Amino acid sequence: MRFTGKRAVVTGGASGIGKATALRLVSEGAEVWIGDIDENGGRELAATSNERIHFLRTDVTQAADIEALMTTADAHVVFNNAGAGGSRSPIHEISPEDWDRTQSLLLRSVALGIRYAAPLMIARGEGGAIVNTASIAALQAGAAPTAYSVAKAGVLHLTTMAAADLSQFDIRVNAVCPGFITTNIFTSALGIAGDKCAVANGAIGQIAAKAQPLQRAGRAEDIAAAAAYLASDDAGFVTGTHITVDGGMTIGPRHGW
Ligand code: NAD
Repeated sequence: MRFTGKRAVVTGGASGIGKATALRLVSEGAEVWIGDIDENGGRELAATSNERIHFLRTDVTQAADIEALMTTADAHVVFNNAGAGGSRSPIHEISPEDWDRTQSLLLRSVALGIRYAAPLMIARGEGGAIVNTASIAALQAGAAPTAYSVAKAGVLHLTTMAAADLSQFDIRVNAVCPGFITTNIFTSALGIAGDKCAVANGAIGQIAAKAQPLQRAGRAEDIAAAAAYLASDDAGFVTGTHITVDGGMTIGPRHGW
């Protein structure tokens, strides 16, 4: 029960990693505000949460939406996690508009999440914890298209800089770098339509397992566990860094001997 008496914000909390993290935080005592554009998913989750999860329709590309979410929740813990695939164009073909859209969704959103959450934490005077979702695409080429990967690399350095700015207020800022996790983003990146998560443990799971030495598909709960650790007092001396949760993918393919 590491979050008893704590309020938390989870962006992108209506599905996947955000949903698993919201449920994890609630299971450890938090009251959670989800900000997401998926109204059905968000309201459904809130309705089954015994009033521990609240939903606020939030488009993280809109500064006013993020400010409203942060002000409403006045949170001790913030998980800046919302995202989608972004542009798939290589750098020599991408349009300026696609570039901006991808950076706005994946990088500016995180900057603004911190921008509007931190002053409330500072005013409360009790410190705080901010966790941002980056990606293994921030660490190596080939995991995702260019605009997405660059935005996620930006999230990592933003995490470092925000940690430096906010350390004087005892506000810790860290990131998680998920590998291939069988959520909607991963399955839609592979062009699979329909009930994407239902196929997650079939063909998709096998693709993910092949790339990840631990030889199974990553689960949203794997990331939730790392995010909850970074958000908790267990990580009280941890700031400005990231945890890679990728089944070993970034250490390279599994060797045969
Ligand atoms: P997901 O599609 O299940 O969840 C993403 C959530 O973000 C959805 O609920 C969606 O509605 C919401 N969202 C999208 N655009 C939004 C916007 N403009 N405003 C508010 N909410 C918005 O996918 P996921 O895998 O849980 O993704 C969560 C995060 O994890 C993303 O930042 C993604 O880039 C990152 N990530 C995922 C993987 C993976 O393999 N699944 C790997 C690395 C990083």
